[in-house]
Amino acid sequence: ERVEYVKYIDQVVDRFSFNLKDGLSLTRNLPKDHCYVWMDSDKLTQVLDNIISNAIKYSPEGGEINVTVKKERHHILTQVSDEGVGIPTENLEKVFDRFYRVDKARTRQLGGTGLGLAIAKELIEAHDGKIWADSREGKGTTISFSLPLMRKKRGRSS
Ligand code: ATP
Ligand code: MG
Repeated sequence: ERVEYVKYIDQVVDRFSFNLKDGLSLTRNLPKDHCYVWMDSDKLTQVLDNIISNAIKYSPEGGEINVTVKKERHHILTQVSDEGVGIPTENLEKVFDRFYRVDKARTRQLGGTGLGLAIAKELIEAHDGKIWADSREGKGTTISFSLPLMRKKRGRSS
């Protein structure tokens, strides 16, 4: 369906901001104008739930998580960044593989199956989008995805 993306993101982030653990803060940077995306919002919610849960799961006490949405020419870019443990450069692409988890010993206690980002990648690609990870070990991680923007409706004459 056609979704106004900025309002949609605002509502998704709201659900997480009510009961944040460990003094974490969740900040949003959203564009002022409306952006329309053709998407299955249940599936997109599954993607965002995993990415934001990961950011929370791998954040230190008092860490800051930022959710940023930027409108580009033909795409809308969404980024979730945290100040957590980070992902080693050589594993940045593998985190999107099924069942892949960085450092089994470290993540075992944090729970999870290693499927979240693999499913996120499938769902984003099914929306003709792209997803990728940037990280610096010990400094934090940013997960980004971009989705095609719907074109503005044109008048009859154009
Ligand atoms: P699930 O999502 O199935 O509950 P999971 O969170 O371990 O399990 P993914 O969401 O697919 O699995 O993430 C894969 C791995 O990538 C994680 O196990 C973790 O090692 C690493 N990872 C993902 N997000 C972050 C992050 N924000 N900071 C640090 N490491 C991360
Ligand atoms: Mg996960």
